[in-house]
Amino acid sequence: MTAPAPHHCCYIGLGSNLETPVKQVQQALNELAQLPHSQLVNASSLYRSRAVGPGEQPDYINAVAQLTTQLKPLALLDALQAIEQAHQRQRLVRWGPRTLDLDLLLYDDLSIDNERLTVPHPYLTVRDFVLRPLLEIAPKLHLADGTSIASWTQRCDDTGLIKLPVQR
Ligand code: AMP
Repeated sequence: MTAPAPHHCCYIGLGSNLETPVKQVQQALNELAQLPHSQLVNASSLYRSRAVGPGEQPDYINAVAQLTTQLKPLALLDALQAIEQAHQRQRLVRWGPRTLDLDLLLYDDLSIDNERLTVPHPYLTVRDFVLRPLLEIAPKLHLADGTSIASWTQRCDDTGLIKLPVQR
């Protein structure tokens, strides 16, 4: 008999700045809840941030979700990219507007660096629209190097982040 696959703790960053972004993010949270071999454990409030990137762009709606999953990192990335594609994500410009962006922020304490996947996500410790929603759902979270999410949040960039009232 083979042992069941272990459950891993993951954090996913969500962002959208096109085509009713609040709905895009809410729908993506529902889709994360339905991923195979996975459970949605927690989701942050929705936040609004100014776009980082070229030219004038609409504001982003951001959130962070916590999942437990038995999917391996690349299988989870495949599943996230399938959700992005289902939202007809437009990838015309690097850092340009997008219907939905899903980033694998953390996968247990793993450090991954290959051509498809870098974990922890490279922007995890510098973007307030990742750190503040993450801090909301995981206030005591520490990275594998011992640094706390709370400490990174105090020195990250400022995109005018606003926590939105609860959406019904
Ligand atoms: P972006 O459009 O800037 O979100 O980048 C998407 C690309 O980043 C995809 O080709 C992914 O394979 C790659 N990538 C590398 N690390 C990650 C990560 N931790 N989460 C999501 N995508 C990643």
